[in-house]
Amino acid sequence: MEVYVNFDLPPEAEAELRRHFTVVRGGDLSNVEAALVSRLTPEELRKMPRLRFIQAVTAGLDHLPWEQIPPHVVVAGNAGSNADAVAEFALALLLAPYKRIVQYGEKMRRGDYRRDVAIPLLAGRKAAVLGLGEIGTRVAKALAVLGAEVWGFSRTPKEGPWRFTNSLEEALRGASAAVCALPLTKYTRGLVRYEHLALMLEDAVFVNVGRAEVVDREGAWRILKERPSFIFASDVWWGRNDFAKDAEFFALPNVVATPWVAGGYGNEEVWRRMAVEAVKNLITWAMGGRPRNVARREDYI
Ligand code: NDP
Repeated sequence: MEVYVNFDLPPEAEAELRRHFTVVRGGDLSNVEAALVSRLTPEELRKMPRLRFIQAVTAGLDHLPWEQIPPHVVVAGNAGSNADAVAEFALALLLAPYKRIVQYGEKMRRGDYRRDVAIPLLAGRKAAVLGLGEIGTRVAKALAVLGAEVWGFSRTPKEGPWRFTNSLEEALRGASAAVCALPLTKYTRGLVRYEHLALMLEDAVFVNVGRAEVVDREGAWRILKERPSFIFASDVWWGRNDFAKDAEFFALPNVVATPWVAGGYGNEEVWRRMAVEAVKNLITWAMGGRPRNVARREDYI
């Protein structure tokens, strides 16, 4: 079977792929039946009339050209392969400002050594986790260990050390902290609006490691301007990789910003694992098994 790959794989994953498939990287793609991709263009798709399976190396699938993907083509994501990295990062994005580490760090750099900012506790406080998937469940469990009263918001009920809700309002009302690890779909785009953020406590911290567009940009801007003690700590931005488009946010004192690095950016171990997991899933599909993380087409179009 011919498999199209449009990025460089670590040697271990490349070797495993070649053990099972004929790997094609360009030229004639007319016999390609599966594609292993990071990104995918409509032009590439058009060259693969026999395509039956797309395996993304990323957890998120919102960047794929869904309108051009024929309905019979199965699409699988790679959720879980770097969830450890993202969950650790989400906790850091939450705790660094929540425990006022960011704020004291800035003061110390300025030579201001006054101990004039109180340190809040998370134990006993309400913390919301939006999206109980590979990332969200890891974050929720960690927050529960710290003694937070965790509320998990997701589509499908899931058991764990949290109270489950499928009401965003219920999850966020009175929360001191929230971590968003939702995928970007047609249902989650713009889901978190001003009125939801306003349900959280005045000095709450809202973390986003999912996709920026899940949060309404205007709503985030408004709450940050109205509530100087509300903190928005995010790894993902509306301008995607064009960070300059969101520079006005980075200039706000109540924003903590990182440039889309939560997934273990630059970490070879994480990258190797992502590639190996993606290849494994592709082999599962080719051998007639049930691949993991199969996307629901109706989530995207
Ligand atoms: P999963 O697929 O494991 O989890 C997604 C969760 O979101 C599931 O619990 C799912 O519920 C829930 N969900 C989906 N749609 C809705 C909806 N409409 N309403 C409520 N809940 C919903 O993915 P991961 O946890 O691994 O990753 C989540 C996202 O994080 C990725 O899609 C990606 O966009 C982002 N990400 C960001 C990275 C970064 O570098 N910042 C790196 C990696 C991922 P259900 O089970 O019912 O479908």
